[in-house]
Amino acid sequence: MKVSLILPVYNEQLVLEEVLARYVKDLKQLKSAFPKVSYEIVAVNDGSNDASSEILNKYAALNKCIRVVNFDGRFGKQAAQIAGFEYAKGDVVILADVDLLNPEGILSTIFSRVVGEASNESEPKIQQNIVYGYREFIDGERHKQTFSEKMTNFATKVFGIDGNFVGKVNISAFSRDVVDVLKALPERNKYMRTMDRWVGFEIDTLIYASEYSKAEIEKKVQELKSRHSAYAVELAPRRDKVRENSETKLYSLAFLVCSFFALFMFIAGVISGKLDFAIIMLLGILYVALLMVSGMFYLRSVLLKRVGVIYYWGKKSFYNIKSILN
Ligand code: UDP
Ligand code: MG
Repeated sequence: MKVSLILPVYNEQLVLEEVLARYVKDLKQLKSAFPKVSYEIVAVNDGSNDASSEILNKYAALNKCIRVVNFDGRFGKQAAQIAGFEYAKGDVVILADVDLLNPEGILSTIFSRVVGEASNESEPKIQQNIVYGYREFIDGERHKQTFSEKMTNFATKVFGIDGNFVGKVNISAFSRDVVDVLKALPERNKYMRTMDRWVGFEIDTLIYASEYSKAEIEKKVQELKSRHSAYAVELAPRRDKVRENSETKLYSLAFLVCSFFALFMFIAGVISGKLDFAIIMLLGILYVALLMVSGMFYLRSVLLKRVGVIYYWGKKSFYNIKSILN
């Protein structure tokens, strides 16, 4: 049996070495508990512009269990995880973040949930197809749902998505069966966070605590900063944007066209001068607001494409989209 650990990596130079070392240690521990299990790490570099790629290459050269997949731009965490699914060969696939908050031993713990009580000598068998790990306790306190988590909770109920949304999943494990079903789905823009529920396997939940408190993490990051000179790359003051796909652009264009049409209706209502049009006028105002917003977005995407750079008044930050798009 093989375990694949998929790590999406975007500008993680500060913690990457430490996290990789921890995960490798964890996987070795897993192997000593289950001698019949081999492992691999698939690190998907999501267009990092810091030293992440050097660090990954160095580790991949040292440890042949690590494979690196490089994106040519930033496509976002979901896309990185999906690419990881394509490359992972494991019978069990674990998705984790490059994250110092996960406690040591988390990989063995979640793997044990998947295979249940396996005797050391025999080949472990899949008992549970999906396990979600929630890092619920930080500083000994239970994590409170954020607004976006509440909204997701609400949306999963409204749209009848299977399962309860407990909160943010910090680590998850899938059997090969689940991975194959997810890979076979024809959607081009896969959103794992809901699709993995939708495929219909039973889900087990693992609630765990972070290893460090928030203050300890702060301290650790400071420490890492001070001894991180070997790789640290000063990042340009650029706000990297996740690459939009052409569908998103098409939607915003369609929205713009509809808004123009609505504006036309509004003007027609005003010109005919009837009080009955009060509601239409109100709607018209709303449409104008939407028009302005969508127009701005559209204009911005045109500018990003044509000019490549947008400066913000009063702020130093700018997009240099050409290097991201190509
Ligand atoms: N990540 C990525 N692409 C992005 C943003 C994040 O690959 O555009 C990676 C990041 O390196 C980390 C993981 O996704 O390993 C989670 O990132 P983060 O902690 O920022 O997000 P969250 O924990 O909120 O999902
Ligand atoms: Mg995170």
